[in-house]
Amino acid sequence: MAQSLDSATRQDLLARVRFYRDLGLMEFYRRSPSPELLIQLASEPDEPQPLPAPQNSLMEDQPIPPRKPFPIAPKIADATPAAGRAAALELIREEIGDCTRCALHQGRNKIVFGDGSPNARLMFVGEGPGADEDAQGVPFVGKAGQLLNNMITAMGLKREEVYIANVVKCRPPGNRVPEPEEGATCSPFLFRQIDVVRPEVLVALGATAATWLLGARQPLAGLRGRLHSVRGTKLIVTYHPAYLLRDPRQKKEAWADLQIAMRELGLTPPSRG
Ligand code: SF4
Repeated sequence: MAQSLDSATRQDLLARVRFYRDLGLMEFYRRSPSPELLIQLASEPDEPQPLPAPQNSLMEDQPIPPRKPFPIAPKIADATPAAGRAAALELIREEIGDCTRCALHQGRNKIVFGDGSPNARLMFVGEGPGADEDAQGVPFVGKAGQLLNNMITAMGLKREEVYIANVVKCRPPGNRVPEPEEGATCSPFLFRQIDVVRPEVLVALGATAATWLLGARQPLAGLRGRLHSVRGTKLIVTYHPAYLLRDPRQKKEAWADLQIAMRELGLTPPSRG
């Protein structure tokens, strides 16, 4: 069967297999298409790509094959005085404009730039906007956003006290993983946001965010539970809230990661009494 597939069909099938795998729909593997075809698809090398593909946040602990190195991240910008950070972020937003720098502009409704305090001590970085975010122009406003809000509250903070942004500012079609070219084109804006906000702690939500922040493809399991350093800022890697919605058993692990961030920030959870 697989031998008769033309290249376009094979790529389409491969994309579908990955899409359902990323959603955690493992039944897809066992039912259709055949296991033989899936094995063949999985063993086929991807099309040559200029950059390594970020790992979808919902795949989390899957091993990531080594690929070409990431582009060098832009030089860290000079610190912005606290009073000038809101204006500095606004300048970045103005520079993005009605952006058409990558293919993601074709399907977006709204650019999702970022949300929260320009002087935040804690910054969360996700993968990219979903449908709700694309409609509202604000990151993490859907169900995953609600869970993130709960996580922030559990840390003893308010959402408006943290800053939230994504690797790409436009919604990938079907919530797919941003293509390497898309991440490479858009992530410099994220780096500039980080340089302006200069949080004490960054939290990467999911493997895609971790991949682009660290500039290396590594399984999420090997990144969690310890401190990293990115652009002079401490980085914690944890699960994407969308993944936690699908596998709530991992919330305990995510909470352990967030407690590392809390320790670094000197935070204690609010009293429940
Ligand atoms: Fe521009 Fe980023 Fe949107 Fe691509 S994802 S069109 S680079 S704003």
